[in-house]
Amino acid sequence: MIETTMTDRIRTRFLVIGSGVAGLHTAWRASAHGPVTVLTKRTLFDSATAYAQGGIAAALGAGDSPDLHREDTLAAGAALCDSEAVQVLVEEGPARVRELQAAGARFDLDPSGDFKLGKEAAHSRHRIVHANGDQTGAEVARTLVAKVRESPNIDVQETARVLDLLLVQDESGLQCAGVRASIAGRPVEIVADATVLATGGCGQIFRYTTNPQVATGDGFAIAHRAGARLADMEFVQFHPTALDTPENPLALISEAVRGEGAVLLNAKGQRFMTKRHRLAELAPRDVVAREIFREQQAHGRVFLDATKMGASFLTRFPGISQLCRARGIDPTHEPIPVTPAAHYMMGGVVTDLAGRSSISRLYAVGEVARTGVHGANRLASNSLLEGLVFAERVARDLQQTPEDLPAPDVSAWSVPALDDRGAAQVVADEIRQVMWDYASIARTAPGLRRCVALLQHLGERIAPGATEERNLLTTAQLVAEAALMRKESRGGHFRSDFPKTRRKWQGRHITW
Ligand SMILES: Cc1cc2nc3c(=O)[nH]c(=O)nc-3n(C[C@H](O)[C@H](O)[C@H](O)COP(=O)(O)OP(=O)(O)OC[C@H]3O[C@@H](n4cnc5c(N)ncnc54)[C@H](O)[C@@H]3O)c2cc1C
Repeated sequence: MIETTMTDRIRTRFLVIGSGVAGLHTAWRASAHGPVTVLTKRTLFDSATAYAQGGIAAALGAGDSPDLHREDTLAAGAALCDSEAVQVLVEEGPARVRELQAAGARFDLDPSGDFKLGKEAAHSRHRIVHANGDQTGAEVARTLVAKVRESPNIDVQETARVLDLLLVQDESGLQCAGVRASIAGRPVEIVADATVLATGGCGQIFRYTTNPQVATGDGFAIAHRAGARLADMEFVQFHPTALDTPENPLALISEAVRGEGAVLLNAKGQRFMTKRHRLAELAPRDVVAREIFREQQAHGRVFLDATKMGASFLTRFPGISQLCRARGIDPTHEPIPVTPAAHYMMGGVVTDLAGRSSISRLYAVGEVARTGVHGANRLASNSLLEGLVFAERVARDLQQTPEDLPAPDVSAWSVPALDDRGAAQVVADEIRQVMWDYASIARTAPGLRRCVALLQHLGERIAPGATEERNLLTTAQLVAEAALMRKESRGGHFRSDFPKTRRKWQGRHITW
């Protein structure tokens, strides 16, 4: 471990951690009110946002309304949504999408210049705004990165990994005074009047995930260590069909492929979904994910057969065709190997409608936040929307931040060498396998107890300086412990030993 004794200090008015839709939008809008510093772990484009395919849900079409969008969102959330937060999401969503278009986002339009709106599972109307077919996230990121880069009020620091929050305790309570970070390996303290956590999700705590490698759950762990309130961490959404390759992350095979008639086959070449659900391959996401998982456990690999589409697959799904072909798979002639994969975290740092956390001067926004809009299960394409809507609210609220920040008492500290990762990576891989085996799609009390115990052991093997692996472990522990506590199945949380939704858990949140 290399120790660096010189600690730099940066003073800023607003500090934003993360460069996905939530962080970039917050930084752009807050820069109208004062200097902003953005820290991001790798490059500005390294985020789940840049991977998003389907689009952004917003009631923009004829015959649609925020009320209908609200009903669909509440139904998906399985009675655990915060109805006020949902109201904000659906009412303010259309304006945010139009603003993004005005800022330069080239969304797909029909010949009359209106948004070309797609329809996704569990949406009662066509309301999915998309760009370049299935590359919406890249367009959102491109637009917001351009806005951030052109603002003279925003300082961007890449390869800047936040390690922990700086806290001040005074007569008004616990306040966040900024962060400790490692910028290109240098220890830096960034003192800020307000700090915004926009660190995204934690798919990387699972062996199989669609989330980028930066999604190690840092924000959840950092906030938890600081004593912020977190909730609903048992609710993880698993996507049923990621491309089953040895890569990390896994590429996504959109639901739309099943929508076009592709069928799921087990290792024996038998179609199994027809026996498991009346909607067969088009059953809800969690049902399909569970059934694929079950088949994998019983017979091995599972495949998605779209060969009946023939050459039309190539024109209907150009992006997915390219993904498959780059890996030597020809979807027009052979079935595509698929696996369920961790996709989205519904829980997180509890915030109010302005994105404020339980610690003064600390905000959370985007996937790391638990605003209450998703409840126990996220409606498809509501997460980019949440990022936009709540980032705007955070940026507005930041204006009122007082400038009388008490000076944080900072003791000497050091940054571990970030390239000394070999041993830590082995532990990280074990954490991810344990979470997949016992705390993923089908959970049971004995499995979760074993998971919690194994995580405890693995924690003892993490080297003191391996901060990212420590965060991975902490977030995994929060998920496993919450999953053990919730003795029912609801939304993204399925317990094989309690397969039904139970009235006594209705409206109850597991909170730290
Ligand atoms: C393959 C895929 C497809 C998806 N498709 C859709 C879709 O069609 N529609 C939809 O609504 N949602 C979709 N989602 C979900 C959606 O993309 C995310 O929920 C959303 O983009 C999260 O935005 P965010 O800004 O909160 O986080 P992210 O976009 O993940 O950004 C988090 C940022 O925080 C940084 N960071 C993390 N930890 C630290 C640290 N310690 N220090 C400094 N920086 C840090 C990361 O580097 C990153 O820049 C998809 C997700 C995936 C993975």
